[in-house]
Amino acid sequence: MALPADIETAALGFARPGPAQDEKMRILVVEDEPRLLRSLAKALREEGYAVDTAEAGDEGLYKAENYDYDAIVLDVMLPRLDGWQILERLRKQKPTPVLMLTARDAHKDRVRGLDTGADDYLVKPFDLSELLARLRALIRRSAGKPRPQIELGDVHIDTRARSVIRAGEPVTLTAREYAILEYLALHRGEVVSRTELYEHLFDESDDTMSNLVDVHVFSIRKKLGRDLIATRRGQGYTIE
Ligand code: CA
Repeated sequence: MALPADIETAALGFARPGPAQDEKMRILVVEDEPRLLRSLAKALREEGYAVDTAEAGDEGLYKAENYDYDAIVLDVMLPRLDGWQILERLRKQKPTPVLMLTARDAHKDRVRGLDTGADDYLVKPFDLSELLARLRALIRRSAGKPRPQIELGDVHIDTRARSVIRAGEPVTLTAREYAILEYLALHRGEVVSRTELYEHLFDESDDTMSNLVDVHVFSIRKKLGRDLIATRRGQGYTIE
């Protein structure tokens, strides 16, 4: 998708968070060993990914369920919920590619991992370059899987092509407008807070500008109609 400059953003005097941020692949790393977590996050960011992290199983599951990642790096041994439990619950909801990190007996874990729905696994200790290569392959493979078409009245969203048609006419959205619309559409019937939308759009370390979301929603409404996205005062936005 072409990326028109965020004119509304510029007009309000906000700095853009970084070049080509809209295009970043988003990875979740769930790992309870702080040094490994830090070095993985750093290496992935250097590769150009947006990275979210979780140090405990329940936090990892929450993020995996509530945000759409391009891939998840998931440690097996974690506090509160282990990697298998996370994977099992996640697979009931979505097919996000998962790379398991295991320190245990490789064969047993491999069988269990593939049975539970892991897409690949790495035995610790591993080479960072191997992890990066596996992750790239995982994301490439998952790009060929079918993704949903969403109908919202006369608005049609093709989540694979990331395109939007309204009343038979293509509508051009910026990458961020599209990301907001798709996220709300995939969570139809739920109220999504500005903070959650903001975290979905940007790296979680930038946490200051969640009112930028309002600017994008205003712009989506101009293009797709006022009634598509409802505001719940004090709570966030929803598509019904
Ligand atoms: Ca661990």
